[in-house]
Amino acid sequence: MRLVQSFSLSLPEWLGSVAPKAEEAFRSTDERMRLAIQFARLNVQNRTGGPFGAAVFNEETGTFLSAGVNLVIRSELSIAHAEIVAISLAQRALETYELAGPGLPRLQLVSSAEPCVMCFGAVTWSGIRSLVCGARDEDVRAIGFDEGAKTPDWTDALASRGISVYRDVCRSEAVGVLQAYQSAGGPIYNGTRGS
Ligand SMILES: [Zn+2]
Repeated sequence: MRLVQSFSLSLPEWLGSVAPKAEEAFRSTDERMRLAIQFARLNVQNRTGGPFGAAVFNEETGTFLSAGVNLVIRSELSIAHAEIVAISLAQRALETYELAGPGLPRLQLVSSAEPCVMCFGAVTWSGIRSLVCGARDEDVRAIGFDEGAKTPDWTDALASRGISVYRDVCRSEAVGVLQAYQSAGGPIYNGTRGS
């Protein structure tokens, strides 16, 4: 087998036609969450991935910076969760791995569901200063996805690092996308499947 030496992730083409303009501001956390949920819903409707969407904003002004959707199946990469995609594209947009770096505003990750254990870790490494979540862990588990071995006090762990956490924002709308995905027979995948 050949030695693979690179990989890449690209948002689905439909996202370019629905993404806000770079200067567009989303004042409230509800507005920001509805955008992340719209990404999740369209990802399901377009059959481009799992029922998860995310976006990064300037926390203070609400200016949109980057989008993410779940791309696991399409990319054949288990890391391609919506949060990882949105964080990575924010880092590419700002040309830094350090989103809390000098001169940058506080950046906020808005995710249609609470982060799994991998994305929890990614948030702490990224410099994201604020996290807004829609659906809860138990909502995600209810349709069969695994969230990993996250500790029950994960929100406290983020808070102790100075990362604000807001939960249950438009939760029922976010859950609606999860249920639509399940009803449509969308694939449920987990690292432990088959073990
Ligand atoms: Zn994740």
